[in-house]
Amino acid sequence: MLSRIQNPLINPLPRKKMIDRQLTFDEQHMSEALVEARAALGAGEFPVGCVIARGDRVMARGRRSNSRGEAANELDHAEISTLRLFLSGHPEVPPDAVTVYATMEPCLMCYTTMLLNGIRRIVYGYEDAMGGGTGLDLSGLAPLYREMRVEIVPHLRRAECLALFREFFGNADHDYWRGSPLAEYTLRQS
Ligand SMILES: [Zn+2]
Repeated sequence: MLSRIQNPLINPLPRKKMIDRQLTFDEQHMSEALVEARAALGAGEFPVGCVIARGDRVMARGRRSNSRGEAANELDHAEISTLRLFLSGHPEVPPDAVTVYATMEPCLMCYTTMLLNGIRRIVYGYEDAMGGGTGLDLSGLAPLYREMRVEIVPHLRRAECLALFREFFGNADHDYWRGSPLAEYTLRQS
């Protein structure tokens, strides 16, 4: 049995220290999500990168695919791919113990898929002014959803995330959502 001093559940870190540590992890993991997003951009894909982590440990990482080309679809979003890797790779980890980091605010599909799979903490960089789903009001929905308690942390490392989307929409070779309200909004940001 763990002694009182060893057991972190009985003798937790002071709350401020825990919050400081979580903030540091958030910054680190968003850096990794940015690495994924840059790789997506390098492949001509929409620059959404995603990381799922618990504490300091990255459990899954992924990026947008099929935002272009013959297999283009609205299923292969970074969050969905990363969630699949997390669920298959770490069945022992409860989803409500991890945080999802994404360079862009999750869309409605990704947001509700994460919620239904037990994710309860989401950190994102750049707001999706056109299709962001995290503003969904759960309180008026059916019981399964309205009981969910979710923490959303917006705008972490927003400037670095925004820079990638500005680069994407500023490139005439990219067709994805070209001329859309999101593209126009993004190119207006500084
Ligand atoms: Zn999505």
